[in-house]
Amino acid sequence: MLTINNARRPAADLGFLLHKRPGKAQSFSLPFGGAHVFYPEAGEDSCTAALLLEVDPIGLVRKTRGTRGDSHALAQYVNDRPYAASSFMSVAISRVFGSALNGKCKDRPDLVDTPLPLTARISVLPCRGGEPFLQRLFEPLGYKVEAERHRLDEKFPEWGESPYFTVTLSQEVRLMDLLTHIYVLVPVLDNDKHYWVTEDEIDKLLRRGEGWLDSHPDKEVIARRYFKHQRRLVRDFLARLVDETDDPDRALEEQAGEENDIEKKIGLKDLRLAEVVSAVQESGASSVLDLGCGEGMLLRELVKIRRLERIVGMDVSHLALERASSRLKMDRMSDKSLQRINLIQGSLMYRDKRLSGFDAACVIEVIEHLDPPRLRAFERVLFEFARPETIVITTPNVEYNSRFEDLPAGRLRHRDHRFEWTRKEFEDWANEVAGRHGYSAGFRPIGEIDPDLGPPTQMGVFQK
Ligand code: SAH
Repeated sequence: MLTINNARRPAADLGFLLHKRPGKAQSFSLPFGGAHVFYPEAGEDSCTAALLLEVDPIGLVRKTRGTRGDSHALAQYVNDRPYAASSFMSVAISRVFGSALNGKCKDRPDLVDTPLPLTARISVLPCRGGEPFLQRLFEPLGYKVEAERHRLDEKFPEWGESPYFTVTLSQEVRLMDLLTHIYVLVPVLDNDKHYWVTEDEIDKLLRRGEGWLDSHPDKEVIARRYFKHQRRLVRDFLARLVDETDDPDRALEEQAGEENDIEKKIGLKDLRLAEVVSAVQESGASSVLDLGCGEGMLLRELVKIRRLERIVGMDVSHLALERASSRLKMDRMSDKSLQRINLIQGSLMYRDKRLSGFDAACVIEVIEHLDPPRLRAFERVLFEFARPETIVITTPNVEYNSRFEDLPAGRLRHRDHRFEWTRKEFEDWANEVAGRHGYSAGFRPIGEIDPDLGPPTQMGVFQK
């Protein structure tokens, strides 16, 4: 059982937030059994809502038997599922208190963002790490944590302590945050190895962890336990956590400023676009990807190429895609044009079926935004899985930087650049990647060539 108490007048406002009227007890049918919501008290000064789970252990065994998760099934009829809070609690929260969890409140929208003096109490929470671990999880989020450990059996004190606690968390906090923290951290405390975690849990945790998980001192521990120690999921999750809290939109904002200013004086952007467009034309491609398309400058040129029947721009940044969409005037496009061009959100770090089956791909001024340890992942996504006939990649030539008067020595052209390569570094990388994946690489300079330093931008054209 989870109870949530609000101690601010009028305390029964809690009912609005939870979308459950205090006067009425309600029951819900869920995949693992049932859930009941009722209010043990609903006064002016104090109002408590209770979510009681009724887990059906026998039904669970039946449901999981013979399915793909066979070895992971709850093989025993005797287990702690019916009385301990577990991932089922999270399922119940999202199904029964979904609107509150997502911060929606039709009748009283003002309440959603109001921190309230809330106290949550979980009757039986498993925690093998003991009270210190509970504190490590909840205190960084601002909660006062009280935990009372239960004996294995009150009648046989010599059996000692159990790993179960009654836990009370209190703080002045928004209800949606409280629910989110419980939603994520209860499964973390539940060490049940049988719980089957899948890939889409990554997205779920990213979404639910937004705004707090990245700064939690124990985020690694949380991820490991949330994903039940499936190393690959943990790794992917942590990588994306960093990626997404890097805030692609902000990086983009800055990009628009700095780099353009530095390169503008030499009209580099237009030169680059022209070179890329001609490389695409020479390749004879009739379908093309623009990966890390940004605000759609290249896309706008690509749509002019008649031969291209299919054009897809991809970026991690929503903001960039919105701008690209308005630059391309997509809201005014005919259905026919809309079949030709498409914008998708995605990351170059992840294998993505939507990127298969294209003749050419352009990756313009993007690789230098990727963390070097993660370049490998990008290489595989593009050269091994997407595998277009032609790949065009451009990146700054760092040697040329000393020619930019406004750029202090040793500085990169943009704050979000993780590296900038010399000609040799880029060519070595390109040749190695090409060789490994069955491509050949050719190089072209972009912009005025300095006899010693080379061109400001370097371009590699890869052919399968
Ligand atoms: N190609 C565009 C934009 C270059 S700026 C141009 O030449 O104008 C770099 C772009 O790469 C940004 O829009 C950024 O959001 C995007 N980007 C950075 N990391 C990415 C990733 N992992 N996957 C996809 N796009 C990414």
